[in-house]
Amino acid sequence: MTPDDLSPATLAVAAGRPERQQGAPVNAPIVLSSTYVSQGEVGAGEKFYARAGTETWEPFEQVLGALEGAAHPAVLFGSGMAAIAAAMSLVPAGGLLVVPRHAYQVTLGYAADLAERYGVRVTAVEIADTDAVVAALPGADLLWVESPTNPMLEVADLPALVAAAHAAGVPVAVDNTFATPLGQRPLAHGADLVVHSVTKHLAGHTDVVLGAAVTDDAALRARLVAYRTLHGSIAGPFEAWLALRGVRTLALRVERQQANALELARRLESHPDVVEVRHPGLPSDPGHERATRLMTGYGSIVGLRPVGGAAGADAVVAALALWLPATSLGGVESSLERRRRYATESPTVPEDLLRLSVGIEDVEDLWRDLDQALRGARGR
Ligand SMILES: *Cc1c(COP(=O)(O)O)cnc(C)c1O
Repeated sequence: MTPDDLSPATLAVAAGRPERQQGAPVNAPIVLSSTYVSQGEVGAGEKFYARAGTETWEPFEQVLGALEGAAHPAVLFGSGMAAIAAAMSLVPAGGLLVVPRHAYQVTLGYAADLAERYGVRVTAVEIADTDAVVAALPGADLLWVESPTNPMLEVADLPALVAAAHAAGVPVAVDNTFATPLGQRPLAHGADLVVHSVTKHLAGHTDVVLGAAVTDDAALRARLVAYRTLHGSIAGPFEAWLALRGVRTLALRVERQQANALELARRLESHPDVVEVRHPGLPSDPGHERATRLMTGYGSIVGLRPVGGAAGADAVVAALALWLPATSLGGVESSLERRRRYATESPTVPEDLLRLSVGIEDVEDLWRDLDQALRGARGR
């Protein structure tokens, strides 16, 4: 059996293990050492200083590389934003970066910082509108894709965007945090680079902040590693180990989270105290046809607009007992927040939009809590 015959659910469990030798451990140890015994010339791949490379990163990098179907292991970073900064270093000073207008708000903040400091020109596009994206491509140095987007859950036509970008000589990076490699493998659609906030579903237990980048291109991977070493945007060994521990159960968690999310989205759609529900798994959702065609799962994020505007949405959050009022997503526990509570969130995101991250709890408990909060917020 080669990794090519194994399904992602199996790879999450089987990849990144120590070699099978009599008496060998089944799990890789955590190595706590900032430096390595070393003298003379340092050979390729040889360990000498832990900012440049440490074995505790490698099992997770192997698992994520395998999950994304990549030719090489992933490159682990100290956060999703560190991985995104490394990926955006593909855009030179004065270059052109095309981004989704509803990308993760800190990604857009970083693009704005590049514009201010290095004269990078940033074009924000509606990523689900393929013609608009294609029109923005001439002269671009990088097309940034999120699909589904955070928090609007718009679904991009990834193969069409990659084909158009490559025809225009533009590399494509995909933030695959929402979909996870179980929902889509952007490299298989031809993307040049995939980034993740490992903090979210991959680690899955709301106890670490980590990021990663994955590519099939050895030269690009070497460039990302060099960026990580120069910027020192590295993961701690304990966090890397927690992510490895977490990713072993990725398939089980995501399967349950997605099933819960779809069931809740369906029920919310007909709730009298709800204005709108967004989830790619709903046949009524604008992204449904594309997600069904291109993805192998609809994800576990739901967009919910309760009645009563921003105040109504805040009242729902305050009335919940089980759902956790918190940012972040992809953990085992269900959580939610009103995105426009941040002044930095895009003004085109509705003020009353709650982003729900659905966890692995019993769906009936999640529903009862949501239902009572929605009813209570309306004063019934
Ligand atoms: C959270 C998130 C990030 C940032 O990752 P951190 O690990 O918080 O730095 C990037 N992209 C998306 C889609 C996210 O949800």
